[in-house]
Amino acid sequence: MGKIIVLRLGHRVYRDRRITTHVGLVARAFGADGIILSGEHDENVIKSLKNVVEKWGGPFSISYEKNWLKIIRDWKNQGIVIHLTMYGINLPDIIEKLRELYKQNKNFLIIVGAEKVPSIIFELADYNVAIGNQPHSEVAALAVFLDWLFTGKELTKELQNAEIKIIPSSHEKKIIRKKK
Ligand code: SAM
Repeated sequence: MGKIIVLRLGHRVYRDRRITTHVGLVARAFGADGIILSGEHDENVIKSLKNVVEKWGGPFSISYEKNWLKIIRDWKNQGIVIHLTMYGINLPDIIEKLRELYKQNKNFLIIVGAEKVPSIIFELADYNVAIGNQPHSEVAALAVFLDWLFTGKELTKELQNAEIKIIPSSHEKKIIRKKK
């Protein structure tokens, strides 16, 4: 299958630390292969995401790149660029096409914004996709997008090299700790 990488644009250290961390957590937990952070460099976000991968498993790549334009332009040679925006084509009207491309092993770069997204992103994206044409959140948009793409199968995916694993239980917290 192709690789799915999330590009988080426009991170602001003081405003977005928590939400950018959540974008990374959702990307990993809902089946993406990695995240590229852009905007202000924030070692704290990178560290907390790396800690989660260390404890809860991967593989999941985490990197920072100031030059998001280069990332997007380079990506266009090796895959498809999808920008999540409330102004885009509504998900139910485009998901079949995107699932088809994914089945053909295409790599996806999924862009989510923070502050106002530069208009060039709308031009560079192969698909501008809305998760409903109402404003909400990059965390919700990414979760719903990935869940629809993978038709829920990501929820039962086993990650590798985890130190901690949850044993699902209806009434208590059960975990097993593994020595690596
Ligand atoms: N006001 C900003 C703008 O005009 O670009 C958007 C801010 S919004 C809180 C942050 C990000 O959430 C957006 O860049 C987009 O990626 C995502 N987002 C919010 N609502 C969305 C929707 N309905 N569909 C898809 N993505 C959405």
